[in-house]
Amino acid sequence: MIQSFALPLLALVAAAAQDPSLAITGARLADGSGGPIVSGKVVLVAGDSIQAIVDERTWKAPAGVRVIDGKGLVLSPGFIDMHTHADSSLVAKPDAVTQIRQGITTALGGQDGGSSIPLADFFAKLEKARPAMNLASTVGFGSLREKVMGEDNRRPARPDEILKMKALLDQDMRDGAFGLSSGIEYEPDSFSTTDELVDVAKTVKPYGGFYISHVRDEGAKVIDSWRELTVIAERAGIPAQITHIKLGSVSSWGKFAQYTALMKEADAKGLKITADCYPYNFWHSTLRVLVLSRLYTDMAEVKRGVDDNGGPTNIILTDYAPNPSYAGKSLAQIAKEKGVDPYVLYMDLIKETDPKNRKPEWGDDVESILGISMQEDDIKGFYKDPRVMVSSDGAIDGGHPRGAGTYPRFLGRYVREAKVVSLEEGVRKMTSLPASVLGLKDRGRIAAGFKADLVLFDPATVIDTSTIKDPTAAPVGIPYVIVNGEVALDNGVATAARAGRVLRKGR
Ligand SMILES: [Zn+2]
Repeated sequence: MIQSFALPLLALVAAAAQDPSLAITGARLADGSGGPIVSGKVVLVAGDSIQAIVDERTWKAPAGVRVIDGKGLVLSPGFIDMHTHADSSLVAKPDAVTQIRQGITTALGGQDGGSSIPLADFFAKLEKARPAMNLASTVGFGSLREKVMGEDNRRPARPDEILKMKALLDQDMRDGAFGLSSGIEYEPDSFSTTDELVDVAKTVKPYGGFYISHVRDEGAKVIDSWRELTVIAERAGIPAQITHIKLGSVSSWGKFAQYTALMKEADAKGLKITADCYPYNFWHSTLRVLVLSRLYTDMAEVKRGVDDNGGPTNIILTDYAPNPSYAGKSLAQIAKEKGVDPYVLYMDLIKETDPKNRKPEWGDDVESILGISMQEDDIKGFYKDPRVMVSSDGAIDGGHPRGAGTYPRFLGRYVREAKVVSLEEGVRKMTSLPASVLGLKDRGRIAAGFKADLVLFDPATVIDTSTIKDPTAAPVGIPYVIVNGEVALDNGVATAARAGRVLRKGR
C-alpha cells in the first residue's frame, strides 16, 4: 500500500524538477501582455509548458537540452487566429503548413455560421489526424438551421425549431465549443430575425461562451448590422465579436466615426464588444454576396451591387467550376474577352452556378471572388482600437493570400512600416487579447506554467510574400514556431511534430 501511495508523489517531485527539453536564448521577449519588451532572458520549456524564465547571465545549458539561439529575433507567444477556415481541411491536411509558417499555433473554427454538427464527432476525427496546430471551435448558426429546418430554411425559424437548435447547440457547448458563430450575410442565416438569433445565442451563456458574427451587411447597412450585434450581446447577456470587421463597400466608406460612436455607446452600457480584422483591402467571398437583395435578374440591383463593391475591374474570380479559366480574371476582363456587358455577364454567371444547375463534379467550391473594396485608413483605424485583434479568415492552401500571409503582413506592413501600433501592442493583438476573449487561461502569454506555444520572428524583416497569383507563398522572417513544447517550424522548415490539440472550453 505504501508503495502505490508513494509512487505518484515521487512522480510529482520528478516533474517539478524535470530538466527542460528546450531553451530559447538571446531573444527579445514580447510576452503578449503589451508590456515592454525585455532582453537577457532564457525561456525554458519542459514537456508542453514553459517551465521558467531565467537570467541569461547565470544560466548554463544542461546536457541534452536543445538550445535555439534567438539572437536578433523577438520571442512571442504563438499567434491565436480568431477566424480560420483551416478547420474544413485540417483532417485531410493536418500539417497546416500555410498556418504554421505564419506563426499560428491556435485557431478558432466553425466560422461564418458553419460547423460540423455534432462537434464531438469532428473533434474525434481531428484528434486522430494529429493536427500541427491547436484548434478551438464555435458552433455555426447556419449549420444548426440546416440541421433542424432542412431545405425549408428560407424563412424565420418557428419556436419548436428554435428549441431543437438550442438543444443541438447545448450539446456542442457541453462538448467544448467556445460559442455561437453566424454568417448572416449568407443563406440560410440571412433568413433569421434578430429575435431568433438572441434566443439561440442565450444557450451559450451558462458556459461562458460568446457570439461571433459575420454581420448581416458589410456594405451600405454596415452600421445597422454592427448595432444588431450589440443588441444580440445585450439581450443574450454575452460578449460578442464583429468578425473580419470592415467598411467593405463604396457606400460604407467614410463611416469610421460612426463605428467609434457605436463602440462608445456599447462601452457605456457595459457590453463586451470586440472585433477582429485581417490586414488586406480585399475580401474573398461568393458572387452572390454582391447583390444582397438577391434580385439577381434585376439590372438596377446588379449594377448597384457590383459598383458598390468597387465595380467590374475590382471584382476578381478566384474559383469558377463551370469554366476554371476565369480564375484570376476580373469581371471587366472576362466581359471584354467575351464581348459582353460586365453586368450581363454577372447575371449569366449567377444563372450558370444556380444551386439547381450545379453538377456534382464541380464540388463544393463552385465559385468565389475577391473584391477590392476596403480603404487602408479604415483598416489602420480598426487596428488602432485596443479591442480589435488580428485574424486571418484564411484556409489551408486557400485562394486568398491571407491564408498564408496574415500575421507576417500585419507585423511587417502595419507594425514596422506604418507604425499603426507598437510592436508590444501588435503582439498583444495576436496573443493575449484573443486568448482573453476565448477564456484560455494557459495560452497567449509567455509566463511560467503557460503552454509552450511560441514564435520567433525577425522584426526587421518579417513580411508576407503571398499574393493573389501565388496565394500560398511562404512568408519571410519567421524561422521558428513551437506548439505545445514541440518545434513545428524548425529554421523555416515545417517538421512532422504535429503536437496540436483540440481545445475545449472550460478544460
Ligand atoms: Zn465571413
